[in-house]
Amino acid sequence: MSYVDEVYSMVVEKNPAQPEFHQAVKEVLESLRPVIDANEEKYRKDALLERIVTPERQLLFRVPWVDDQGQVHVNNAFRVQFNGAIGPYKGGLRLHPSVNLGIIKFLGFEQIFKNSLTGLPIGGGKGGADFDPKGRSDREVMAFCQSFMTELCKYIGADTDVPAGDIGTGAREIGYMFGQYKRIRGVYEGVLTGKGLSYGGSLARKEATGFGLLYLTEEMLKANGHDIAGKTVVVSGSGNVAIYAAQKAQELGAKVVTASDSTGWIYDPEGIDLELLKEIKEVKRARLTEYAAKRSSAHYHEGRGVWSVKCDIALPCATQNELLLEDAKLLVANGCIAVAEGANMPTTMDATEYLQASKVLFAPGKAANAGGVATSALEMSQNSERLSWSFEEVDSQLKNIMINIFRSLDQAAKEYGMAGNYVAGANIAGFLKVADAMTAQGIV
Ligand code: NDP
Repeated sequence: MSYVDEVYSMVVEKNPAQPEFHQAVKEVLESLRPVIDANEEKYRKDALLERIVTPERQLLFRVPWVDDQGQVHVNNAFRVQFNGAIGPYKGGLRLHPSVNLGIIKFLGFEQIFKNSLTGLPIGGGKGGADFDPKGRSDREVMAFCQSFMTELCKYIGADTDVPAGDIGTGAREIGYMFGQYKRIRGVYEGVLTGKGLSYGGSLARKEATGFGLLYLTEEMLKANGHDIAGKTVVVSGSGNVAIYAAQKAQELGAKVVTASDSTGWIYDPEGIDLELLKEIKEVKRARLTEYAAKRSSAHYHEGRGVWSVKCDIALPCATQNELLLEDAKLLVANGCIAVAEGANMPTTMDATEYLQASKVLFAPGKAANAGGVATSALEMSQNSERLSWSFEEVDSQLKNIMINIFRSLDQAAKEYGMAGNYVAGANIAGFLKVADAMTAQGIV
């Protein structure tokens, strides 16, 4: 059995009931095959793959908190410090009822390579809890966040592990967590990113993942002889990533015609009205039915379905495994030329393979959505310097980072004889730097 197959079997056996983690490992290891096969003896002797697929540390803890009626609730919380070879652990905190250890491990594993691709000194980690902030009062959310941080604060710090937002963790949650960290640890430091502007946050962090997705998409299109202006874009999700992806796509001259949430989706052939969408999602935290009620050109549909809309470019920006093989077939049949992942692992493996085989340009999330974590790293730099950079400065650094990410994965794919396979290119480019650092640091 090859080393890659051996390690994958070991992951499945030792991590039962964690299908998303298996999926993420399989995707990465498959595309690393040419690199591993060429160095098999050395990597096997150093157990490099076994070490890279095993988190350095996994924290599991309970979070008790009291609701507005005086009822006590208990949530399960996680922080996985996956790989610190190239810098302090960095990765978001997801608050969603679907969160479990397998999901956090898949996200933490992906984060290692994503962070490496940014070219910045950040290791891979991820965390969260099966808490659902939806429908909870501000006081209840604060109670949860304070209890969560009371435990987590023992294991994180500006130079050790710097969490950020993710699904369900926005500016409000980060604020409550930061306040509690400061109160318990008594230090004012950049221990979290995605902070509010009045207490150490970075301009352009809110926009960074969505904007970065479009900077990379634009570069990928250019490299393949296309222009984004005038294209029709289909977006899923209506959260942080989706909203700012839609905004930048519009700024670059494309027309965005869909948005979705966990209950339904909207099709607006005139182009999404972003101010209205922001008002509904960022301010009122309401459902998309309100969008359709306020805008006569929009149609609301229950359930899923954005991928059935004819488009040139598809941007999955909601959650994992939301673009399935049947969706990929619809996209191809409708003439889609590019898919770029704003979310983490939104496209299933068979859908990805189908898109690639159909010559659709495909940018994987670990490259395409790296703008968020890259800007978080810029926030860390600003906190360390005790300075704040202008929006334009952060945005221009973000753009350069995304262009460089595309170039490095394009080049890695070409170097290993897989030109145009940006999944392989991203995994290889991300892996080589981490593997090199791990080798240099000895058996740790
Ligand atoms: P938000 O919580 O702001 O938004 C998530 C969106 O996806 C919402 O519209 C939500 O709908 C929808 N959604 C969530 N879960 C499901 C589900 N199971 N089925 C259908 N729709 C769902 O999160 P973000 O925009 O921050 O994150 C979106 C994705 O991008 C995630 O995969 C995240 O890991 C990834 N990402 C985020 C980064 C960031 O900087 N924020 C950085 C890099 C990656 P509803 O409101 O109804 O739940």
